[in-house]
Amino acid sequence: MDLFEHQGKELLADYGLPVPPGAVALSVDEAVEAARRLCPPVAVKAQVHTGGRGKAGGVKLAADLDEVRTHAKAILGLDISGHTVGRLLIEKASDIAEEYYASFTLDRSARRHLGMLSAQGGVEIEAVAEADPDAIARIWIDPVEGLAEPACRAWVEAAALPAEIAPAAAEVLSQLYRAYADADADLIEVNPLIRTADGRIAVLDAKVTLDANSAYRHPGYAAYDDTQPRDERERAARARGLQYVGLDGSVGVIANGAGLAMSTVDVVNQVGGRPANFLDIGGGANASVMAAALEVINNDPAVRSILVNIFGGITRGEEVANGILEALQRVTIEAPIVIRLDGTNAAEGRTLLEPRLDHRLMMEPTMLDAARRAVELADGASPPVPAESATPPESAAPASQPESAMPPEPAMPPESAAPAPSEPGGPW
Ligand code: GDP
Ligand code: MN
Repeated sequence: MDLFEHQGKELLADYGLPVPPGAVALSVDEAVEAARRLCPPVAVKAQVHTGGRGKAGGVKLAADLDEVRTHAKAILGLDISGHTVGRLLIEKASDIAEEYYASFTLDRSARRHLGMLSAQGGVEIEAVAEADPDAIARIWIDPVEGLAEPACRAWVEAAALPAEIAPAAAEVLSQLYRAYADADADLIEVNPLIRTADGRIAVLDAKVTLDANSAYRHPGYAAYDDTQPRDERERAARARGLQYVGLDGSVGVIANGAGLAMSTVDVVNQVGGRPANFLDIGGGANASVMAAALEVINNDPAVRSILVNIFGGITRGEEVANGILEALQRVTIEAPIVIRLDGTNAAEGRTLLEPRLDHRLMMEPTMLDAARRAVELADGASPPVPAESATPPESAAPASQPESAMPPEPAMPPESAAPAPSEPGGPW
């Protein structure tokens, strides 16, 4: 869960970190009013879930209220890497002497928290890592032991921060680590952490990502959830309790289990298609969940075909099949559906589906075959041709074979003799 800069700074201020005073504004008038209260000079800062705002013209200093008005007008509505600016942070301007970089994140492979600190801040850390890797001091922190004071001081020394500021910096970094750990953050990045002209340390930018799974023990996180950027499809899916991520292709994907859903997205790509989404309907693929999933996919105008990839585990094949059939009675689906049903009691499930198969509802024996068929349907310029049609267009030939030709346990077609890319073996 990514926070806006102002949310991140509010959170850090709650943990005692030095953050310049500021206020959020959603309109030009609010921006001017906030600046009036703060007394210019102020910084007018775009609040978007992406970096590089400075370069994109999303961060401006304003010496007076007229300039605040000008900058607020220019920045509101600005597009920064695909994010439209809808809110501003108006912040008391800081007099910057030096810019540093500080971050904490989880290093899964080391099973430690990783702190990174550099005296070269204000620029992208990737650029520093490339040009001068030694300029970044790293510290690995045992989550149980935490960041001890001597270790923190040594870290600051290794980053070659100016000696006169080192004790203050170490104090701020300890506080920052405490905030990172207590708030269940996955990432806190302060770039720049500054030394002001009068020798104080301050947090000038904050990128905070919280672990959404910890929301149950942080009542305040519900408010952050409300401001997450989601497209319409994602909002609709969320309202139905589905794990959905919108993508920009034309093949709608439904699978049970996150791993299988990801594999399905991969396979669609592998056979030359473009997934419209990632959608995991979870373990119990019952009718209402399946109906909700189909509904969400159905509302995406970009979807040209739907690939339903189910590997029955605890959920039995016939339940899944009934779920799909029931769902189809509740929802009228625009795009043709290709089903791959495998796993526990798959044969029983397929037997239930078979009488209902037609040019709108198809079944394939493997994930790869199903993906190929779904991609063909999505790519086909003309709508799918009914099986009984006398003269199917050539391009649609493989997709329009009469379904009755398919045996319940079909032999592998030659092209799927190649090893299936990632046939799941897990508990899906
Ligand atoms: P980013 O470009 O998205 O990382 O946005 P930042 O919040 O990091 O701002 C970019 C740059 O603008 C900073 O590195 C600073 O150099 C500058 N900047 C931001 N706020 C102030 C301020 O209050 N005073 C001054 N002098 N510069 C600022
Ligand atoms: Mn920054």
